[in-house]
Amino acid sequence: MLEVTSLSKSFDGFKAVNGAGLSVKEGEVVAVIGPNGAGKTTLFNLITGVIKPDAGKVLFKGQDITGLHPYQVCRKGISRSFQVVNVFQRRTVFENVQVSILSREKKTWNLFTPASKMAIEETDRILQNVGLIDVRDKTSAALSHGERKVLEIAIALGGNPEFLILDEPTAGMSPEETTRCIGLIKELREKLGLTILFCEHDMEIVFSISDRIMVMVRGSTIIQGTCEDVRCCQEVQDAYLGGSDTCLM
Ligand code: ADP
Ligand code: MG
Repeated sequence: MLEVTSLSKSFDGFKAVNGAGLSVKEGEVVAVIGPNGAGKTTLFNLITGVIKPDAGKVLFKGQDITGLHPYQVCRKGISRSFQVVNVFQRRTVFENVQVSILSREKKTWNLFTPASKMAIEETDRILQNVGLIDVRDKTSAALSHGERKVLEIAIALGGNPEFLILDEPTAGMSPEETTRCIGLIKELREKLGLTILFCEHDMEIVFSISDRIMVMVRGSTIIQGTCEDVRCCQEVQDAYLGGSDTCLM
């Protein structure tokens, strides 16, 4: 479904992403792991059009989407959440998701249909799916950190994606919030049939929900394989885990 080849991006001569490759099949959950600064967020920014690559290709369902604008990538069926929470703080939970649906449908306020009456059912369905229906009318600023991270996923779902990219979805969450978020990611795949690409530091989470894992170090792909492949790869041990002799987990 997604095929990334030889993708590169430099900032002032520093190669943040350096010939990275990645493939994701339809229906898979794929994790990108790697130390801080490895280039994971930059890779996601390149795929979603937030920044343009210096070289390389991104194919989505066989179509070349390299260098498209974020809204164009979104309309192809790819939505994302951000590592740093990115919501309208003074708007309600409902409004944050509603505006995402309306922007997908290119709808704006008009004389006959006030915005408050639009896309109500779909917005509520998404809030129900992600478990935020009970805080529907709270402002985003009043949510807990974990709820705001989930709201970001709900906003991404407003784009009606087939392919979801989550940048550190559980970062900063309490253990309970983390467990709930992991359950949500599994449900999104099983109930909504979404294909999911995410990055995450907690290896237990990575191994528990991923079909395959891509390991990124200094902007390059070291390996992409099954959890088993990655657990026992010597190169991963050396580069990422500080040369330990034991298999991961
Ligand atoms: P990760 O998400 O794996 O922690 P990032 O993709 O955020 O890594 O960053 C990779 C490297 O690129 C880091 O050294 C970071 O400082 C650098 N970098 C990322 N974005 C920019 C930017 N806009 N300008 C300059 N350097 C950047
Ligand atoms: Mg990052």
